[in-house]
Amino acid sequence: MCIFCRSANESSLNISRRGLLKGVAGLGALGAMSYFSNSSAALAQTASLPRQTGAEGVRYLIRGGSVLSMDAAVGDHDVADVLIEGKKILAIAPHIDAGDAAVIDAAGRVVMPGFIDTHHHQFETALRSFLSNGLLADNGQENGSVNYMDYILGRFAKVYRPEDVYISELFGSLSQLDAGVTTVHDVSQIHHSPAHTDAAIRGISESGRRAAFGYFEGQGKDMRHPEDVRRIKDEYFGSKDQLMTLVMGGEVYLPNFERAWQLGRELDLPIAAHVVGGAINLPFEQMAGEGKLGPDNLFFHMTGQDDAAWRIAADTGVGLSFAVPIEMTMRHGTPPLIKAVSMGMKPSLSTDVECTMSADFFTQMRSAMTLQRALVNQAAIDGKNDLPALLTDRDVIEFATVNGAKALWLDDKVGTLTPGKEADIVLLDGTALNVAPINSVPGAVVTLMDRTNVETVIVAGKIRKWQGQLLDADIDGLRTKLVASRDYLFETANIEQDLFHK
Ligand SMILES: [Zn+2]
Repeated sequence: MCIFCRSANESSLNISRRGLLKGVAGLGALGAMSYFSNSSAALAQTASLPRQTGAEGVRYLIRGGSVLSMDAAVGDHDVADVLIEGKKILAIAPHIDAGDAAVIDAAGRVVMPGFIDTHHHQFETALRSFLSNGLLADNGQENGSVNYMDYILGRFAKVYRPEDVYISELFGSLSQLDAGVTTVHDVSQIHHSPAHTDAAIRGISESGRRAAFGYFEGQGKDMRHPEDVRRIKDEYFGSKDQLMTLVMGGEVYLPNFERAWQLGRELDLPIAAHVVGGAINLPFEQMAGEGKLGPDNLFFHMTGQDDAAWRIAADTGVGLSFAVPIEMTMRHGTPPLIKAVSMGMKPSLSTDVECTMSADFFTQMRSAMTLQRALVNQAAIDGKNDLPALLTDRDVIEFATVNGAKALWLDDKVGTLTPGKEADIVLLDGTALNVAPINSVPGAVVTLMDRTNVETVIVAGKIRKWQGQLLDADIDGLRTKLVASRDYLFETANIEQDLFHK
């Protein structure tokens, strides 16, 4: 099902009449989908699926799970119930009388907030695994290597059509939803024309997940960044009560960088940008002096920054997003986890690009925890004093949930399991072969689980994945479109499809 099939109050996006007409024209395969294929196992699963979840007034109870709320006031519960009504969490307690509400048996499951990815270039889904050995740029030492700047942005991105943007955004969104990543900040640097922008928004919104839509730049003569942000805001972001919100892309390397920031502030939008030491440096001192930095900014990577820049970042309250595995493998510099925490800042985690690394959040949490501990442990072995505290399982779950919500200015809605917040919840199977028996809930989540343990996924009260099966998604049909898009992109960019990096 797509957003256009739902009742108005369920809609993930406040679609204007113009947007609706465009959307209906492009419904295609999504319009006539049923929940499952006709297998008997699938039919048995749908029989137990609570109906109309997420709709106003509809209640259901998640019974008897281990609740990791990430809210100090709610606390942890070895066994507790979570009551949902409509889009929101109504109550969390050791035992709740469900009345005639539907009940989900969560015995042996971890019940926790959905993961939040604060920086993901989803338009690159068709290019998955292409750049598994690649660096960010060819800095002269690598002698013409296949790298991100030259190949992904320099060759592939240039030839994207709106339909390529659409299918990559939708497929990538569904994949993360399936893995329990209920919210994304889509950093779509693919706005070659307003039609590309409309296609990106449609792809994300049809997935039914929560998203901050990062309106970053594009390429070519029809590119309208940043001025088109006025139209986008008017057309798609008229309401605050919807699953998608708007973020202004304000990259320092753009010739119209000042204008992008000016427009963002004028339209009361948060502004995000990449900061990569040696490659993309923000003039922190100058911008702070002009009063331009604040809590409505989010910076990706922040590698290679000096103490003065960090002091300003901490004092102005900017948000941080670390793509730890990407930064390690693509030579962005050492992820500044120790520095950020030592400054009292609250980093979030991000997946960045699937052309080079998984967008799964267990990978992100494990990478952050093991890298920080590797650095601190080696310092300890080397006899250093005044060591930073080792990151713990709970620390990195905080990065992946509540800090992500803060970084995307969504912490009044999601990031913790808190009565009154919207119900973005994952149920993780602790009875599975790779996890049982659970002796520590945060320990099991961070050190043992993977996306196969993500059994049920809920966004704004609506069940989107049920007992291991993603709902409302014709994956086979969408994969066919994605493969066709991939073939077009390689052919038009004149890059050979070479499955073994020969
Ligand atoms: Zn990025």
